Amino acid sequence: MFEESKETESLRIFAQEYQKYLERFLFADSGERTLQEAYDRLTALMDEGIAEAGTILEVHNRALQNALNIRFDNEKVEWLYIKRANEFLTQAMVAMDVFVLSLREDLRRDQLTHLANRLYLRQELSRLLLEAGEKKFTVGVVMVDIDDFKAVNDIYGHDEGDRVLVTLAQIMRESLREGDFVARWGGEEFVLVLPKTDYERVKIPLERLQKAVAEKLRLPDGRSVTLSMGVVIFPEEGVQSAEELVRLADLAMYAAKRRGKNCVVLYPETRGGN
Ligand code: GH3
Ligand code: MG
Ligand code: MG
Repeated sequence: MFEESKETESLRIFAQEYQKYLERFLFADSGERTLQEAYDRLTALMDEGIAEAGTILEVHNRALQNALNIRFDNEKVEWLYIKRANEFLTQAMVAMDVFVLSLREDLRRDQLTHLANRLYLRQELSRLLLEAGEKKFTVGVVMVDIDDFKAVNDIYGHDEGDRVLVTLAQIMRESLREGDFVARWGGEEFVLVLPKTDYERVKIPLERLQKAVAEKLRLPDGRSVTLSMGVVIFPEEGVQSAEELVRLADLAMYAAKRRGKNCVVLYPETRGGN
């Protein structure tokens, strides 16, 4: 009930502002400046209840009718105004698109670190695997898990834990190559996607990452944070999907934990059962 009245109220304000700017554009100042101002204002007032083509069109038609009735007492409408009105409507549609795009972007990103989330990772990795299959290149997938992270929260509190996650995300972004992809998989787990790498070369960027983390990511007591990593390279026998690949990287990461943490394990090394 509250939601509904809130939505109606925001729509009412949006429509009111729409009409104000439309009238200004039609009759007073049909320049770029009015369009830009209208765009800024309408984007700021946009919400989920408004950002639909049907709603915008309805707001537009009502505003146009009101505006023209003020000016004319006969049925004759000058083409000039229709042309301007269409131009204005286009601008409102662009504002709507931008809003919807930002919503879509929110859906694909993790709120804390702004890294890609699991959904986005699945889309990207699935797309990349198709391309890799066609063009015959390899794709490295790395599961990264912070060592003893629970203790960071327990000793220094949740805010310090969050700071560690945000800083690590930043370091990962910086230490990767263009074309690499990093996502937050869950709590303190991240997935790196490194196209065109193999088991021989993959340790180079991962050692670079470990070094950057050791230097830049310190806890309040001066100790550094360490990572356990598991690597799998596509193509891998029997692996078709992004999910499968991440699962194998996860298996390798758990082997790294068993080896004493702060190390990298390649999936083929785990086949012997260690
Ligand atoms: P291991 O070395 O075996 O990986 O141990 P660990 O302590 O890192 O792993 P565990 O799975 O026991 O604990 C993970 C912790 O991560 C527990 C959870 O409270 C914390 N965590 C998950 N998400 C967040 C978050 O967004 N912020 C903070 N501050 N902590 C988080
Ligand atoms: Mg974990
Ligand atoms: Mg952990």
